[in-house]
Amino acid sequence: MKVVLIGYRGAGKTVVGKMLAEALSIPHIDTDAEVERQAGKSIPAIFREDGEAHFRTLERKVIAWLVDAEGVISAGGGAVMDPGNVAHLRANADVFLLLADPDTVIRRITGSDRPPLTMLPPEEEVKTVMERRRLRYLFSADFCIQTQGETPSGVCRMVRQILLGGTVRKERREEALHYQGFRDLPEEEKRALEIALANPAPATTRLCAVIGHPVSHSRSPTLYNRLFGHFRLHYHYTRIDDVDPERILRFAQEMDLRGLSVTIPHKAAVMPHLHEVSRDAQEIGAVNTIVQCGGKLHGFNTDWIGIREPLSSWRGSRVAVIGAGGAASAAAYACLSLGMEVHILNRTPEKARELAGRLGCESGSLESLAGIAPEIVINATPVGMQGDRNMPIDTKDLREGMTVFDLVYTPPETPLLKAASGRGCRTISGLEMFVQQAAEQFGIFTGIRIGPELVRRYLE
Ligand code: NAP
Repeated sequence: MKVVLIGYRGAGKTVVGKMLAEALSIPHIDTDAEVERQAGKSIPAIFREDGEAHFRTLERKVIAWLVDAEGVISAGGGAVMDPGNVAHLRANADVFLLLADPDTVIRRITGSDRPPLTMLPPEEEVKTVMERRRLRYLFSADFCIQTQGETPSGVCRMVRQILLGGTVRKERREEALHYQGFRDLPEEEKRALEIALANPAPATTRLCAVIGHPVSHSRSPTLYNRLFGHFRLHYHYTRIDDVDPERILRFAQEMDLRGLSVTIPHKAAVMPHLHEVSRDAQEIGAVNTIVQCGGKLHGFNTDWIGIREPLSSWRGSRVAVIGAGGAASAAAYACLSLGMEVHILNRTPEKARELAGRLGCESGSLESLAGIAPEIVINATPVGMQGDRNMPIDTKDLREGMTVFDLVYTPPETPLLKAASGRGCRTISGLEMFVQQAAEQFGIFTGIRIGPELVRRYLE
């Protein structure tokens, strides 16, 4: 068994870790103590004589060496800032984030010999560094435990309880199999879900899902389950088809689902029901990624990153975004972040005007495309999807040298992309967006950074 405790210094990782290891009769390993042992000097001495960067190198080596360890590992407070450390800590492990508010931490660490991490006064340092690390902690943890007002033995008891039976009662998990969102699951996926819910091994196995209506076309379950296997994570990914976003989120909270990929038509509708929404997602007006920790739902948008990455070498170009829905908003936001001149064109021009007004760019009707003479055209409508032979724009508007990015990814080569390559345009498939946004989303679900190559490999 491998159990990892993460969190800010003073959260109780060492004291709880020792108690937990004793209660479970497994070794306790403190990465800070291990660094000191291997370096032959104290952490204050390493910081003073060799600097923080050297400490981080030693810490990385210790954590890599512990990848297959059995025991309770209390990780140094800053260890999760390195996604490589997170991959090693998470392998075959259950990761618990111990939380405490800044005042509690300040009270607990006053008088300790730990070296400062900034030039700030101690109290300000705790608040600043905690805020800087907040999302990394959230992404890297399986379970979040509030330690304020709890004794170390109380926290130890909570962790043991979760290790024994997860966070949701067995009867409730069995009942959940009848949830209407699972009704149309393919047979093989239904069987895998039955195991993950009713008979998970280990008991801490967490569920993730793509949520929307419809979701039968989604390639996310196959992709994520392969990635979870690759990194040896105790997660299972399924699909939830439900027209009611509130019902899905209620279910997600009751069942303590870890991560949700949000798709049509729920990207905007889920937003008012979340505890926190990232600034990017608020500006775009859509959430496509939700992560849950300690009963709180946090919303993000990775779609815009999936559009920005393939276009990153076209900074400053003139672009026409076709459509005015959620994907168009993410596309316009991505292009504006690259300093592009953005025109949003839609069959309902009022909607384009409204979106452009909100984001601060130009708008028009589909007929205005030729007059704009864009260097890049992005299709953000569903036209051309799955057997639809139509094109969102006229073939005569495709000029040689233009770059055409179709966000539709089923099929990978849409009628628009086919016509564009025939006219000498550069083309980018919607699969590129899917791959890039999935890599980013995996980082939010797990704290582990992956590149697009790994996503492509597991999509095949
Ligand atoms: P949405 O919010 O429903 O918006 C669709 C937009 O397309 C609307 O502006 C709509 O115009 C326009 N539209 C619909 N049918 C049209 C037609 N026949 N002719 C012209 N315009 C039409 O959908 P969304 O969330 O933005 O998604 C749009 C597409 O992006 C999806 O179908 C999907 O293929 C793609 N997408 C891809 C990825 C990826 O990872 N590659 C991710 C997300 C989305 P009105 O305003 O006039 O109704």
